[in-house]
Amino acid sequence: MGLYQTKVIVLRSRNLGEADRVLVLFSEEIGKFEAVVKGARRQRSRFVGNTLPFNYLEGLFFTGKNLDSLSQAELVHSFSPLREDLNKFAYATFWVELVDGFVPERQEAVEVFRFLLAAFIVLENATEPEIINLAFQVRLLKYLGYQPELNCCACCGESPASKQLFSAEAGGLVCMNCSSQFRDLLPVSSELLSWFEQLGETDLRQVHLLKIQMGNRPKLFALLSSFIENRLERPLKSRVFLDNLIR
Ligand SMILES: [Zn+2]
Repeated sequence: MGLYQTKVIVLRSRNLGEADRVLVLFSEEIGKFEAVVKGARRQRSRFVGNTLPFNYLEGLFFTGKNLDSLSQAELVHSFSPLREDLNKFAYATFWVELVDGFVPERQEAVEVFRFLLAAFIVLENATEPEIINLAFQVRLLKYLGYQPELNCCACCGESPASKQLFSAEAGGLVCMNCSSQFRDLLPVSSELLSWFEQLGETDLRQVHLLKIQMGNRPKLFALLSSFIENRLERPLKSRVFLDNLIR
């Protein structure tokens, strides 16, 4: 039986059988992987307490036939504010759903891992989590190589006319000629596109300084989530909750 040690972020957990819990973990070296905590639901130890979602911990793992098991967990950083504040909890849950949805199992994703860790740190102390959430989505898409086409029509390559339309299905902006082919059109202004650009370029620790008007925030969120859902090929579960929070 092999033994290994790695630092992980706990993405989420689910129950297994009567007493065990399976953790979905994200590590810089391994990528996303699952491990079981045997007897997790029967004991109230500090070890089990350390394995709460969003926590960053150093774990000692045994390789198993089907599933590796976590046998020790030292807390590196607790991220408890992300579990205690309803807004922050909603955003962290949303981010985890995105990372979990996009990152394949046991495939190194160093950039995404470091980004998620940095974003959790920013969110923990955030006073404007809504803007950080928008920036998170723009940046995550960048790291994953899924950036929408915002310079010309994603369909024919022509420069779009003044009235701009966005289609997640097309993969970005569409011109008037191509727009009839798509049913998921969202109107976008050049102002909105400029915010999109700035969200992707500004340091995450500074994005709260961007003066994005209240009215533009839900528009940006709608554009980003429709694009992400299209890439994931399924609806996002935690979006419903966020949609209510943002309005
Ligand atoms: Zn076109």
